[in-house]
Amino acid sequence: MTQDRKVPPCLPDSEVPETRAFRQGVVTSGDAPLSGDAASGLIRGLTRRRVALIAGLAPFLPSVGLARPKTHGSPTLHHPATGAGAGPLHAPAVLRNAPPPRPLVMLDPGHGGKDPGAIGYSGTYEKHVAEAAATELERQLMASGRYRVAMTRTSDRFIPLEGRVEMAQAHRAELFISMHADALHDASVRGASVYTLSSAASDSQTALIAQSENSADLFGGPHVHATSPEVQQILASLVSEETRRGSAHIASSVVASFQSRLTLLSHPQRHAAFVVLKAADIPSVLVEMGFMSNRHDEESLRQAGHRAMVAGAMRDAVDRYFASARVGMG
Ligand SMILES: [Zn+2]
Repeated sequence: MTQDRKVPPCLPDSEVPETRAFRQGVVTSGDAPLSGDAASGLIRGLTRRRVALIAGLAPFLPSVGLARPKTHGSPTLHHPATGAGAGPLHAPAVLRNAPPPRPLVMLDPGHGGKDPGAIGYSGTYEKHVAEAAATELERQLMASGRYRVAMTRTSDRFIPLEGRVEMAQAHRAELFISMHADALHDASVRGASVYTLSSAASDSQTALIAQSENSADLFGGPHVHATSPEVQQILASLVSEETRRGSAHIASSVVASFQSRLTLLSHPQRHAAFVVLKAADIPSVLVEMGFMSNRHDEESLRQAGHRAMVAGAMRDAVDRYFASARVGMG
C-alpha cells in the first residue's frame, strides 16, 4: 500500500514534481489501516488525560474541602467575608503584582523526514516551507516577549500525528498551530486558508486535504497506523465545547489577519477531521499558507520576505486571540 520512494535530503529546484499527486492518492477512505490496538490506544490516551484532569481538580472537590479545619466557613476563591470581626484575607502582595505566566504556544511544522508533504510545482517540498515559516513565527512570537514557544520539530524529521498532539499536551500548550502548504488536484487554486477540527468536512476540497494530511502516518511504516474515519469521528466528539470555541476564535483571528495581506482561498475558514487537531483541551488550528500545487503560491512561499509577512499576520492573530481571552476572563 505504501509506495516505496526515495526522498532526497534537500530541496533541489530541479526535482521532478511527478510525485505531486502521490499524497492525495495514497489513501482512500475505505483502506486506512488501523489495528484495534492503535484505535484503543488513542482512546486510552484521551481517557488517561481526562482522569489526570479530574485528579488535578481534587483539592477543589467538596469531599476534600470538608477535611480542612473549619475557621471562617467554607473556603472561597472569591472575596473574603465582609462581616465585622472576620479578618479579611489578603493575598500576598507579591502574588497580586506578579505578571500572569506567559502562555505557551506550540508550533507544528507539518510533515518532515521521510514524509515530504506536498511537492511543489517546481519541486519545493512542503516540509521545508513549513519548517522555515514556523521558525520565523517562533522568532516573532519570542521577540514580542509575550509568549513561550515550543516546536514539534526543529529539524527535518518524521513525527507521527499522535506524537505531535502528545507534545502539545506534555508542554501544557495553550494554543496549537499546525503549519502547512499542501497540494490540490486543481493547480489553478491558490490562497491561504485556515482549518479547525470537525467530524464532518465543510466541503469536498477540505475533505481531500484532511484525508491527505491524515495519511502522513503511513510514512511511519507498518508500526504507525493511520486513523480510521470512525476513530476520527470519536476523537472529534471528545473535544470540549470550550476547546471548540477557542479553536474557532483563533481560526477567525488568523483569517482576519490574512485578509488585508494575503490572497485567500474562497471561504477561507473551513473544518474537517484532522487528526493533528484532536487535542481535547487545547484550542488547535491548521493553517494552509498557500498551495504547493499553485506556481504563484509556491513561488511566494519560497521567499523569506513573504514567509515573514505570513508569520507577522499570524503573530498579530495570536496577540488578538490572547488579548480577548484575557478580557473574557475578566
Ligand atoms: Zn501538509
